[in-house]
Amino acid sequence: MTIIRNFDEKCSVCGKSSPQPVLTSTNSFGYPDLDFRPPEMQRSTMNTWIHECPHCGYVAGNLEEDADFPDDFLKSDEYLSCEGNDFKSDLSKLFYRSYLISRHKGDVMMCFLSLRNCAWKCDDYEDENALSIRRLALPYLDELIKTADEDKNSLLLIKAYFLRRIGEFEKLLREYEGLTIDDEVMNSVILFQLERAREGDTECYTVEDVVEK
Ligand SMILES: [Zn+2]
Repeated sequence: MTIIRNFDEKCSVCGKSSPQPVLTSTNSFGYPDLDFRPPEMQRSTMNTWIHECPHCGYVAGNLEEDADFPDDFLKSDEYLSCEGNDFKSDLSKLFYRSYLISRHKGDVMMCFLSLRNCAWKCDDYEDENALSIRRLALPYLDELIKTADEDKNSLLLIKAYFLRRIGEFEKLLREYEGLTIDDEVMNSVILFQLERAREGDTECYTVEDVVEK
């Protein structure tokens, strides 16, 4: 069962406090999507992953985290308009702003995670921005793959999923045909992605679709 409670957080930018939703317990049943998006009930807890200060507009996983950007950044058009992206969901906007802050900090992992989360919320709202957001996330993902150690295989799987969802079938086939990794389920996922790519399929699938095939 999911339990969300509000706790006061003091914003590290403006110094004011506000109640913010914190996940104190959840669970998940079933299989994740092929990019590891968790099943329910965890799937519906994304509103606790990002907090927005109602006083100054700062966003972070925890508003008490240090912010490091110019004073006027939160009032900039770039930040407020999400660089002109018209998202259908408020959470997509917050995750995009988190991406902008992470980009300022040069935090590649947070840039990628913020865009991934933004795209997930776009999917939930059938927001076509999911396509451009996943495209924008790819260079960050490539950068992470280059320097990854033990998460490299998971990142490769996420990249395969992203390429197929944005319709980059040729690139997916070129980069992943003949690639084998030292994990049976992960290899099955790659083969599944290649098969779907050959059919020009951009739909969402879960690990269940692979293991029950
Ligand atoms: Zn604030």
